[in-house]
Amino acid sequence: MSAPAIFSANTLVVEGRPHMSNLFYQTKAPRPTLARAEGIYMWDTSGKRYIDGSSGAMVSNIGHSNPAVLAAMRAQMDKSTFGYRLHFQTDASEALADKVASLTPKGLDRVFFVSGGSEAVESTLKLARQYALTQGQAQRTKVISRYPSYHGSTLGALAITGYAPMTAPFDPMMHAMPKIPAPRAYLDGLDPTDTATGLHYANMLEAKILEEGPATILAFIVEPIGGASTGALVPPAGYMQRIRQICDQYGVLLIHDEVMTGGGRTGRFFGADHWDVTPDIIALSKGFGAGYVPLGAMIARNDIVEAVMNGDGFIHGYTYAGNPLACAAGLAVLNEIEQHSLTENAAQMGDALKTRLEAIMQRYPVIGDVRGKGLLLAFELMADRATKEPLPAAFNAHSRLVDIAYDNGLIIYSRRTRGGIAGDHFLVCPPMIVTEPQLDEITDILDQSMQQLMAEMPHSVDP
Ligand code: PMP
Repeated sequence: MSAPAIFSANTLVVEGRPHMSNLFYQTKAPRPTLARAEGIYMWDTSGKRYIDGSSGAMVSNIGHSNPAVLAAMRAQMDKSTFGYRLHFQTDASEALADKVASLTPKGLDRVFFVSGGSEAVESTLKLARQYALTQGQAQRTKVISRYPSYHGSTLGALAITGYAPMTAPFDPMMHAMPKIPAPRAYLDGLDPTDTATGLHYANMLEAKILEEGPATILAFIVEPIGGASTGALVPPAGYMQRIRQICDQYGVLLIHDEVMTGGGRTGRFFGADHWDVTPDIIALSKGFGAGYVPLGAMIARNDIVEAVMNGDGFIHGYTYAGNPLACAAGLAVLNEIEQHSLTENAAQMGDALKTRLEAIMQRYPVIGDVRGKGLLLAFELMADRATKEPLPAAFNAHSRLVDIAYDNGLIIYSRRTRGGIAGDHFLVCPPMIVTEPQLDEITDILDQSMQQLMAEMPHSVDP
């Protein structure tokens, strides 16, 4: 008998019989098959209901099956679903670009569509490089980033990602890029509300620029609020402003990776709007297509785009970029966010959810930190709140709590980013349409799941 064509233990149950899937996505536990989804809820084919407490991977920001988005997609499908960007402009991509430009900081009006976050980040790197060439600065090749960080899975985006479990096998295939520590004030025992803390971490950028040689630095890329890698890490006071100053001083382009933070999730349209700092280039995705279509964008300073387009042109592009169906869906998503004040709701519900998470933290000393802004919230488990000692790696708290919550009908998102860096953290990021009663449902299930986790806690941990 020949071996089944599978790459993982992704076992499904189809019509009562186990079925080895030909897909080879990496799932830690076999997951059921999705039947339907509506609002913040999802159902599997057995009829079990789940609360989408992480909006997938912080994607489904306006909830599932939004009728206005589905109607806009159907209307676009009746017109056209593809027009290659070198052959046609489409009304859908023009309209979406205009809408995006109306939401971006002044002077950043030029939009380049892509199909996801990694593509958006890759695009920012290549635009930055081509711009430096137009300025006669061919030596500028290095992009500084932070660890931990996540900027995507393609080799360019991976080279600037600070997360060894995902980068290590590929390191020999990539250019090593300089990295500085993310401002994890809570782990270092520093006060995040003190500007001195912000300057302490931001000045690490200046030190790195000087160490590498300022003339060789092309850009610095940063998630305004950390996403999956740091678990909703909010920068300390003064950090974002000082980063901007340093970039200006050394002629380094500032790229904001707003793939996860953009689109209202943090309670402002862009994460960086909390600090009124304007970058040179922005990467956007996830909540932009909100799970309806693969969609992302690079948004750049007008003069950068003009310099590149007046030179050799932008030597970059993806076949599916600017797909009219994706753009029609994206426009409908942005209109829904605006018409239903979902960014404002994310701010309000975010405050309410953070208060609830802090109350849970009081009950479980293993919760060492609750952090985030708007509905980009996380909590972190540690063996000792005072020393910040992590839970034993073998306990696998990050996947165990996710599985317990999943069984209880709540989906949350987790990572363990250790290697001397951070602990088991969990993102609780429901769609921006969430209501207060639904927050109660979420936190009740979370509380119950924490109780179950505590019952399994190794004896070495004395909570
Ligand atoms: N940047 C950030 C900040 C992200 O969170 C992600 C996805 N988690 C990416 C880039 C890559 O996006 P994608 O998975 O859509 O390629």
